[in-house]
Amino acid sequence: MPSYTAPVADTMFILNEIVGLDRLTNNPGFAAASGDIVAAVLEEGGKFAGEVLNPLNPVGDEIGCTRNDDGTVTVPPGFQEAFDQFVAGGWTTLHAPEEFGGQALPMVLAIAVEEYFTSANHAFNMYHGLTGAAVSAILAKGSEELQKKYVPNMVAGTWCGTMNLTEPHAGTDLGLIKTRAQPQADGSYSITGTKIFISGGEHGMAENIIHLVLAKTPGAPAGSKGISLFLVPKIMVDDDGALGEQNTVSCGSIEHKMGIHGNATCVMNYDGATGWMIGEENKGLAAMFIMMNQARLGVGLQGLAQAELAYQQAARYALDRRQGRALTGPAEPDKPADTLFVHPDVRRMLMECKAFTEGLRALCLWGALQVDLVKYADTEEERQAADDLISLLTPVIKGYGTDKGFDVTVLAQQVFGGHGYIREWGVEQTVRDARIAMIYEGANGVQAMDLVGRKLPANGGRSIQAFFKIVAEDVAAGKADPATTPIAEALEKANQQLQAATMWLMQNAMTNPNNAGAASYAYMHIMGIVAVGLMWLRMARAAQEQIAAGAGNAAYMQAKLATARFFAERIMPDAGALRRKIEGGAESLMALPPEAFLTA
Ligand SMILES: Cc1cc2nc3c(=O)[nH]c(=O)nc-3n(C[C@H](O)[C@H](O)[C@H](O)COP(=O)(O)OP(=O)(O)OC[C@H]3O[C@@H](n4cnc5c(N)ncnc54)[C@H](O)[C@@H]3O)c2cc1C
Repeated sequence: MPSYTAPVADTMFILNEIVGLDRLTNNPGFAAASGDIVAAVLEEGGKFAGEVLNPLNPVGDEIGCTRNDDGTVTVPPGFQEAFDQFVAGGWTTLHAPEEFGGQALPMVLAIAVEEYFTSANHAFNMYHGLTGAAVSAILAKGSEELQKKYVPNMVAGTWCGTMNLTEPHAGTDLGLIKTRAQPQADGSYSITGTKIFISGGEHGMAENIIHLVLAKTPGAPAGSKGISLFLVPKIMVDDDGALGEQNTVSCGSIEHKMGIHGNATCVMNYDGATGWMIGEENKGLAAMFIMMNQARLGVGLQGLAQAELAYQQAARYALDRRQGRALTGPAEPDKPADTLFVHPDVRRMLMECKAFTEGLRALCLWGALQVDLVKYADTEEERQAADDLISLLTPVIKGYGTDKGFDVTVLAQQVFGGHGYIREWGVEQTVRDARIAMIYEGANGVQAMDLVGRKLPANGGRSIQAFFKIVAEDVAAGKADPATTPIAEALEKANQQLQAATMWLMQNAMTNPNNAGAASYAYMHIMGIVAVGLMWLRMARAAQEQIAAGAGNAAYMQAKLATARFFAERIMPDAGALRRKIEGGAESLMALPPEAFLTA
């Protein structure tokens, strides 16, 4: 049966050895994250995830949500009680600023716990999941009045935030949105239009829901240059902060979908609803990007979280299930058969699950550290470097992280054989739940285009050059120790493929833009391999240092080294094949006319 244990020891290893959190506490931005606090947050968060949220995961999947005739939405049984505990436990306040009721802990710690909550119950965690990103947008671009009126309750968790971009005819291409915002005499706007696929758009768990909505003002320029952002509360808030009347926003229906059944995906109707502009008119997309960038890291984390859950399910099953004998002779002759663990092909699947899961965890946390450093690093130069790095890595963490997260869930399902296809084991829910992360928050193909079209050329390629330099320095350090030399050499080769692919893009994308589009997905994956490979080299070096010093848990450190070797030998070589795909150019992709795709 499904169950989940938060990987607290692995998180601690990464926070200390890769992120260096314990060495950052002199910096005021990290001061609240003392060793005791970090350990307590991870332990308690892990406990809440395993004991409260995870038992509700199959319940949410089986029962799902219901839209009632009066437009309200009923969430699965147990969700309200869990939500109340979630709020009472202060889990919504971790990273928020103190002046708005937050604990001002670093983002990297909040992200670490967020992984546990998502593994335990992805659908549940989405209800408050976008609120932190909405708060970031309001704090960055909203007026002081909006900040004071809305942010404290959103931080406290009594109110949730949602993101309203998508319309029936406008998904990736937001320039096509039709929702209108008519200015009113009192400075508010009247919002009219229909948004679809809005996660957590309606439910009664929180006292209020604060919708962040993209809409167009009268006479706004066509396309994405004419979009503004609005704050639209579900229930109106008086000047003294008391809740007033229901706003004219309602849930028209909820979607019936492949996974995350416990989360209500809503059609939201805005019928002259009252809203307030966030930031400047026609600059709404830039304001929304503050929310979206944070959300994209969160979705990348969902890839990791589902991978961890699936990996735990598969590893537990493989230890228990007995089929066949080891190729080298029976491992347990007194038993009718050996466990699945003796078969190299099952090992292939489990090692891939382990290598991607732990590698992506390090990458997500290292990425979150950059978000903290953008704010808190000592010098302007360091803050700029962190900003460059996280801008470059965000589409990789989202796109590669969720692709690999989904792949891991499918591999884990395969470990179960036919039982993986049967509901009671839980892994088929994990596969279904993981799939959405590749699609929403900008489909992964769009992430790849963002990486190649915007992030690579930005500032004359400054970010990618800095990334190459980081990798080269780590490779040199890795080669200094025979124990990590093979991993460093494999990373060096993968990085050479990335450099060659980058060069090819520079030479061929201008002459034919389709070359950039055709190359982008493979490029995002090479970059993912190098980024996760870099994390594995760092983890291997840290593990080797601890082994040499006789410190830490020896078996755990040896496992880190072995898994790093696996990633170096079995995953990093894929970079070469990806580079060759890129160098094939766009021609074979674009050769056929559209009608040729439908002929028998
Ligand atoms: C369960 C669920 C929850 C969601 N939650 C929210 C939410 O809370 N708020 C919200 O606003 N939206 C939400 N969405 C919407 C989601 O973000 C969109 O579905 C997604 O961005 C893709 O848009 P689309 O479905 O219109 O696909 P389209 O834009 O039609 O894209 C179709 C395909 O074409 C590709 N494509 C499109 N344009 C390009 C291009 N220029 N270059 C390369 N490839 C391209 C895409 O990658 C995709 O593969 C949710 C969706 C689902 C299913």
